[in-house]
Amino acid sequence: MTELDDRSRELRDNLAAVRARIADAARAAGRAADDATLIVVSKYFPVADVRRLIDLGVTDFGENKDQEASAKFAEIFEGASEQERAALRLHFVGQLQSNKAGHVAAYADVVQSVDRAKIASALAKGAERHGRTLEVMVQVDLDGSDPGRGGALPEQIADLAAHVAGLEQLRLSGLMAVAPRGADPDAAFARLAELSRDLRAAHPSADRISAGMSGDLEQGVRHGATHVRIGSAVLGPRPAV
Ligand SMILES: *Cc1c(COP(=O)(O)O)cnc(C)c1O
Repeated sequence: MTELDDRSRELRDNLAAVRARIADAARAAGRAADDATLIVVSKYFPVADVRRLIDLGVTDFGENKDQEASAKFAEIFEGASEQERAALRLHFVGQLQSNKAGHVAAYADVVQSVDRAKIASALAKGAERHGRTLEVMVQVDLDGSDPGRGGALPEQIADLAAHVAGLEQLRLSGLMAVAPRGADPDAAFARLAELSRDLRAAHPSADRISAGMSGDLEQGVRHGATHVRIGSAVLGPRPAV
């Protein structure tokens, strides 16, 4: 085994701490310790860090900007065997414009930030063009107070989900949300769990919940998150932009 450099050791320790937090939160909720999948959000961090994380066993990555994500992961995927590529899952978690969505469909495995029908249609078209199918989640705006962060309002979920389910290239897998600024994440994610139950009544296989970031992963896991999206707790503070 090659010796780890300082940055790899730092990432290894951070990963261990985050994994322990997820496992503790899961056990406290009466769930299996490995019930929630860790997605490391690698936005702003370089290819070298993604490679270090892959070597440390991370399989799921999140990115929020098309340009950055496509360049970074083209480099990662280029050197990867088919088997290695198949083991990686790239989650797009950022706001999308419909003119960019077709491009994201070329390389993302999951798009978690679908918040309107137009985006879903553009993703489906892009996926078709590239001969792919895409997993998508509906992003929920839990309180409507911050439209800048995206998300469908709770009352829009059912129609949007039906639209997604009608698109052949897309597979609806669940809901994603960010706890509203200033809100109690416990209350926010409890509400998300309710919305997930409503969604599953119409779409039983859409049973995934993406909830919880570095500061509130415990609350996400407590309320049934199947995926947590962690940036700074693994990679450190993001460089200022
Ligand atoms: C950046 C980002 C994250 C990770 O945030 P941290 O607080 O650094 O863990 C999670 N979800 C989305 C949608 C993000 O944009």
